[in-house]
Amino acid sequence: MSTLFSQIIAREIPADIVYEDDQVLAFHDINPQAPTHILIIPKKPIATLNDLTEKDQALVGRLPLIAARLAKQLGFAEEGYRVVMNCNDAGGQTVYHIHMHLMGGRRFTWPAG
Ligand code: AMP
Repeated sequence: MSTLFSQIIAREIPADIVYEDDQVLAFHDINPQAPTHILIIPKKPIATLNDLTEKDQALVGRLPLIAARLAKQLGFAEEGYRVVMNCNDAGGQTVYHIHMHLMGGRRFTWPAG
């Protein structure tokens, strides 16, 4: 099933892209919850964390690596930042193509809401 993020990958709808390679795309969230809020997604359309298989291990492992690299480039790696992956309705997932939220530039509280 095509999602909003598949359409962004296909350049059918615009996004403010900050990183791309053959497997991963990262772009600014349209409704930022922090001064910097980026979504890092695999180009492979996997609906939820529950749909991951062993074969996806290396692909999904790239997401936090790219998050940390972007945090360094954007200058908030040392002060700290938050990464989040929401799963299904109770987890707050609204787009059914897995994605890692990278948020930085403010202090985060715990537990998350
Ligand atoms: P989640 O609620 O974890 O599924 O996150 C989905 C995220 O996608 C939300 O933070 C939305 O603000 C974001 N979003 C929705 N539409 C777009 C879009 N067209 N471009 C960028 N981010 C979007």
